[in-house]
Amino acid sequence: MASQITFIGAGNMARAIFGGLIESGYPADAITATARHQQTLDTLAARYGINVTTDNAGAVADADVVILAVKPQLMRNVCQSLGEALAIGRPLIISVAAGITVDTLADWLDDPTLPIVRCMPNTPSLVGTGASGLFAGQQVSAEQRELAESLMRAVGIVEWVEEETLLSAVTAIAGSAPAYFFYMIEALEKAGVARGLSPDSSRRLAIQTALGAARMADQSEYDPETLKQQVMSPKGTTERAIHCFEQAGLERIVDDATRACFDRAEELA
Ligand code: NAP
Repeated sequence: MASQITFIGAGNMARAIFGGLIESGYPADAITATARHQQTLDTLAARYGINVTTDNAGAVADADVVILAVKPQLMRNVCQSLGEALAIGRPLIISVAAGITVDTLADWLDDPTLPIVRCMPNTPSLVGTGASGLFAGQQVSAEQRELAESLMRAVGIVEWVEEETLLSAVTAIAGSAPAYFFYMIEALEKAGVARGLSPDSSRRLAIQTALGAARMADQSEYDPETLKQQVMSPKGTTERAIHCFEQAGLERIVDDATRACFDRAEELA
């Protein structure tokens, strides 16, 4: 029988995960989501067929897994209101909140013995191509590790990290990174329009090219550097474009941006 999963918070990240789970065949009636606004929940219940409620404590009472998916700044209050209810069923707790450590969560939940996994997912989980980093607290059993991994594997790839701070690195290059690629698509689309393409056509070409490049990088026997070289003939068009990126310091910009993201994740800890 499928594990009963309760999501505390039903925003972008929770939807990406439960939407992806349902898409992969997970039974919708084994999933419960909570939020503050009933109207949002009613829309989600109609769309996904999941159980919904505004009662957080009630929603965790029979859960095997509780996924904490509220904004980091709301997490302390949410944890403090859940402590007693979690102490009864002792479900596996998975937090997707950026920055908040296992020890801090255990402290807010007022129970150092609860099994807590921290997960840094990303929104492409919604379409089965998520990339998640996982870190297990000391109280997590081998079976619970497997359970957390199997849930997140249903919506994408999973990388375990054995040092908690590495989750901030996962945030910098995967959790937040879909936005970087959307930004690149947006910029390519605008550049196509500036060169005379229609916005629709330019967007379709940019998206398909991003998809194709990612799929090739994933499936090819060659590394991304070699694949890049294969598009660049000497003195050709691509070489000119890549030269422009190099002169503008693209690698440094990416390094600066990911460091800023990493530092912000650590600040939240
Ligand atoms: P979001 O879209 O703002 O969703 C937050 C959800 O929490 C909303 O459904 C909100 O419901 C609900 N909520 C707020 N207070 C609550 C309470 N007291 N009880 C129950 N539900 C409550 O945020 P998000 O982008 O999904 O982010 C959620 C977490 O995922 C964050 O901790 C973030 O660090 C992490 N994360 C996000 C991403 C991403 O790409 N978005 C990636 C990796 C990790 P109402 O709308 O009804 O208030």
